[in-house]
Amino acid sequence: MTRTWQVGDVTITKIVELEDAVPPARAGISGLEPTDLADLPWLVPDFLTPDGLMRMSIHSFLVETPQTRIVVDTGLGNDKPRAVPHWSGLRTGFLDDLRAAGWPPGSVQRVIHTHLHIDHVGWNTVLVDGAWVPTFPQARHLMVRADLEHWQAQAARTDDDRPGWLRAMTDVAAVWTDSVAPVLDAGQVDLVEPDARVDSSVRLLPTHGHTPGHASVLIESGGESAVITGDLVHFPCQIARPRWTSMLDCDQAEGTAAREKFLEAFADTGTLVLGTHFPDPTGGHIVRDGAAYRFEI
Ligand SMILES: [Zn+2]
Repeated sequence: MTRTWQVGDVTITKIVELEDAVPPARAGISGLEPTDLADLPWLVPDFLTPDGLMRMSIHSFLVETPQTRIVVDTGLGNDKPRAVPHWSGLRTGFLDDLRAAGWPPGSVQRVIHTHLHIDHVGWNTVLVDGAWVPTFPQARHLMVRADLEHWQAQAARTDDDRPGWLRAMTDVAAVWTDSVAPVLDAGQVDLVEPDARVDSSVRLLPTHGHTPGHASVLIESGGESAVITGDLVHFPCQIARPRWTSMLDCDQAEGTAAREKFLEAFADTGTLVLGTHFPDPTGGHIVRDGAAYRFEI
């Protein structure tokens, strides 16, 4: 499903790669019990199915400003060998959907990576004659320096002692080899700070914790604003319960602090919040709800 938002002079389009609905026990949220979600009735039906499955989505945002065509995050990609079976060897129509939206790959000028996890770098490359080649030949890929250095070091490790499921979910060495290294080798990467300005309407917002260089993306134009969360918030339930952390967070305490600061900053403002893994309708506003918050669509 393609969905579009207008923020001043900026048009934002969502291109979905995969949608899924998972039991809470498989959602990767620390300490979450299915009964906890019953306290948040506003999650049903968009974000929680009536029978208690948590909906999630992997998608990219296409951000068209008056100056720049920007893709924010690049999903899982096709043909990639992955340890998680339902992410391996995908054959989705993602690039066809991009073209149908008027975005042939050659027209993309910037790719912003909120971070370098497996589901945010996949379409950096496509398989051509057995080689991984850049999908967006004209694009500069913006990667936060701290994130790139962290994942480069992780990919080189031979003593990874993390639990097997965590190694499979991140699949660091494979992701580095087929999705990050080829764009680095092609000279298409700009290493940036986590508050980098991209153009007059778009800048990064530091929200590290999920990964060391994680950044959200702030869009401001004509007195309006939007923010793309990245994986600072995986599921809308974390807006109500910011202390529910992702098991994939590199630093859960930092992630929680960043989430609380983000909620405080954007609650009850006009800023459109676009969730990087929120299923349709994906965009909404953070509103105060007693001592906590909820997501209003
Ligand atoms: Zn993600």
